[in-house]
Amino acid sequence: MKVLVINCGSSSLKYQLINMENQEVLGKGLVERIGIEGSVLKHEAKGVEGKVVIEQEMKDHKVALGLVLDALVDEKHGAVKELSEISAVGHRVVHGGEKFNGSVIITDEVMAAMEECVELAPLHNPANIMGINAIKELMPEVPNVGVFDTAFHQTMPKEAYLYALPYELYEEHGVRRYGFHGTSHRYVSERVSAMLGKDLKDLKVITCHLGNGASLAAIDGGKCVDTSMGLTPLEGLVMGTRCGDIDPAIIPFVMDKEGLDTKGINNVLNKKSGVLGISGVSSDFRDIENAAGDGNERADLALKIFDRRVKKYIASYAAVMGGVDAIVFTAGLGENSASNRKEICEGLEFMGVKVDAEKNNMRGKEAVVSADDSKVKVLVIPTNEELMIAKDTQELLK
Ligand code: AMP
Repeated sequence: MKVLVINCGSSSLKYQLINMENQEVLGKGLVERIGIEGSVLKHEAKGVEGKVVIEQEMKDHKVALGLVLDALVDEKHGAVKELSEISAVGHRVVHGGEKFNGSVIITDEVMAAMEECVELAPLHNPANIMGINAIKELMPEVPNVGVFDTAFHQTMPKEAYLYALPYELYEEHGVRRYGFHGTSHRYVSERVSAMLGKDLKDLKVITCHLGNGASLAAIDGGKCVDTSMGLTPLEGLVMGTRCGDIDPAIIPFVMDKEGLDTKGINNVLNKKSGVLGISGVSSDFRDIENAAGDGNERADLALKIFDRRVKKYIASYAAVMGGVDAIVFTAGLGENSASNRKEICEGLEFMGVKVDAEKNNMRGKEAVVSADDSKVKVLVIPTNEELMIAKDTQELLK
């Protein structure tokens, strides 16, 4: 079975065509600047050297996906001979609200339920829905599956997901913690079980998805019991450009002082904060690490604040679960930055976390980086949300 995985953003989309027999990626790529001048598709296929770059006007996601499908069946740089070889399409959907606690085959009712979640994720869900509609038109015979970022976190108990706000705000407007990156947290937690040769049911795991967006999850017996992102992906850790946890009173204070409306303050909190805001250098951790290495104090401070926040969450999640067997680092920074992993774990020796400096000195592959005598195992696991989406798609269509 060959499954096409699609992840639509507002002006971009990523895709992978995966052969589920051997989990091989047959073709993949990225479209940027959809609906903006300078649209570009970068496509790669197995056995084809280099990237094919297609620069052409793409006024919407349907045009972009049409070009993706053309690229996938192209005689020279395609990944399959005919589109009919693609059995199903799996779509990443950011927000499933309380309606979805797992992946689903997309029907008209599912589409309606996803529409209802738009108000919870106005920047993300409309793009996901556009992608699904485009595929329905371009490949009408093929079943579509929706895989939600929020679904994995639906097992959280009420004490983890409710805010200390008037209860009516939850009942009337759905104001609660939902959590995101669920597909990534689920994937790496399943890999921990395989790597340690232990049943997930017997493991307490803390997964740290540290990328441009960053979140932690506490996973007890395979079920998420807490996570750091909230109603939106703004809460929790310090991120590339997002502030994470702050005193909520800062919001009206800054709005008053700076004369900002809700759009203006949202822009500050989502786009101008995080390590970019603190360092003034960049939202990219590589730039910040380089600047800190060159003696830039604010860049150094940004890294320290980031690491400290992750450390606090790890300890609090261990407390919530009454212990922890494994801590996992994943996503761009978690997979690649040995120095960040070291700083985050330093000081957690009191709870049995001991990183082996030599083992930790690696990047981008699966490894156990804790010392042999560390009570808590520390692992690096590259995330693979696309494979997880493809697996769910295959499973549902069996
Ligand atoms: P993601 O959102 O998962 O793609 O992660 C992107 C973030 O990972 C960016 O801030 C990158 O700077 C960071 N990253 C990627 N590779 C490295 C590296 N070798 N060292 C430090 N940070 C990295």
